[in-house]
Amino acid sequence: MQECLNIATLFTMKTDIHPPYFTKAVITCACGNVIRVGSAKEKLDVEICAHCHPFYTGKEKLIDAAGRVQKFQKRASLAASQKPKHKGKTRK
Ligand SMILES: [Zn+2]
Repeated sequence: MQECLNIATLFTMKTDIHPPYFTKAVITCACGNVIRVGSAKEKLDVEICAHCHPFYTGKEKLIDAAGRVQKFQKRASLAASQKPKHKGKTRK
């Protein structure tokens, strides 16, 4: 019986080193989905979640953070319109 008590004391947490733990923390996604989890932060805002991510929904959707998709499409169309510099020459 004494040994059991000693094992139990091994798994107790140290005091005064852990942040406050919120058992009902709220994660809010940009799509409106609300997830409740346990976390050291009480409230979290995310841009994408499993409810709206294309991987999980199966729908193709472009996730654009800062106009990167537009920049890429602009560069791609520019590159397609330009002619290659080394025309007809092969390396030896
Ligand atoms: Zn979402």
